[in-house]
Amino acid sequence: MSVDTLTIPTQCVPQSRISELDFNNIEFGKIFADHMLVADYKDGAWQNPEIKPYGNMSLSPATSALHYGQAIFEGMKAYKNADGDILLFRPLDNFKRLNISGDRMCIPELPEEIFMQGLEQLLRLDAAWVPPTAGCALYIRPFIFATDEFIGVRPSSSYRFMVFSCPVGAYYGQPLRVAIEPNYVRSAEGGAGYAKAAGNYGAALYPARKMQERGYHQLIWTDSREHKYIEESGTMNVMFVIDDRIVTPAVSTTILSGITRDSVLQIARDKGIPVEERKVAVSEIVEAHKAGKLQEAFGTGTAATIAQIATIHYNGEDMDLPAIEGREISNGIAAELDRIKTGQAPDPHSWIYKI
Ligand code: PMP
Repeated sequence: MSVDTLTIPTQCVPQSRISELDFNNIEFGKIFADHMLVADYKDGAWQNPEIKPYGNMSLSPATSALHYGQAIFEGMKAYKNADGDILLFRPLDNFKRLNISGDRMCIPELPEEIFMQGLEQLLRLDAAWVPPTAGCALYIRPFIFATDEFIGVRPSSSYRFMVFSCPVGAYYGQPLRVAIEPNYVRSAEGGAGYAKAAGNYGAALYPARKMQERGYHQLIWTDSREHKYIEESGTMNVMFVIDDRIVTPAVSTTILSGITRDSVLQIARDKGIPVEERKVAVSEIVEAHKAGKLQEAFGTGTAATIAQIATIHYNGEDMDLPAIEGREISNGIAAELDRIKTGQAPDPHSWIYKI
């Protein structure tokens, strides 16, 4: 199978639901585009990709993913440029990361042609669902889960790959109040933190809720051994600007290798901004703040691109950071990244995949 030769059989909806969507008031994650992609793994091969109307499916109560969490997912966005073309941002990187996650979770490798051809056909069909409005996008959710009807802990012999999408509005999130987590961990060396495995997210809900009860939007994860080093912020990678340099934890087996993270660092390097990817000690952030050198802090991820951090709590104290408006480095990079994603700026690293 190659992208050129594979044409995925398609069953279209009799009538689009697009008229239910108010493009000026899109509720995140609740309204789904008309179609979805489905492919199954059985008898040792991925097969029978098809596109059909988005809708419920019937599953056995013994479906193994529901019990043992053998499930992985991705998140990516498509935008429209001024000519109405659909632009996907770095889809091949999501595809590669899906298979990296799959490898860690004993899920068989998905062929590139099913992923890419599936995306192309699905997006062409649901083109009207990609919002043309500035700041809005079509969020795309590829995922794979184990489908054996079997109660017993072992890798499944059958899987389902699916992709569906939902339009999302501009992210006008308020600047975040975050707290450095001194007890709970998201991931540990030897664990599955670098994989986008469903269970990582389920297990993170309780510590996040505890932190929310204390008045913080999100927590900053620290290393599992000593809670001395910074890892990620909620479900985003995290970066700091200290002395006009971007400082961020290096990716490792405990950190998800974010595509936004990589893009932000690349743009920073293109602009000549010094970047340091290394271990970042909590004490370094506290000292930098005390010395008046902590200029900016922000999370990076597909949902928000850049989410500004206003306050970092540690050890009983709130560290308030400089005003968001004056953050030249992160605001500049966020604006450049948005221009690239929507085709308004040159794309020197070939990140855009035009449908
Ligand atoms: N870390 C975690 C744990 C995440 O779930 C995400 C979202 N995928 C990220 C970081 C950011 O990754 P990306 O920039 O690829 O969305």
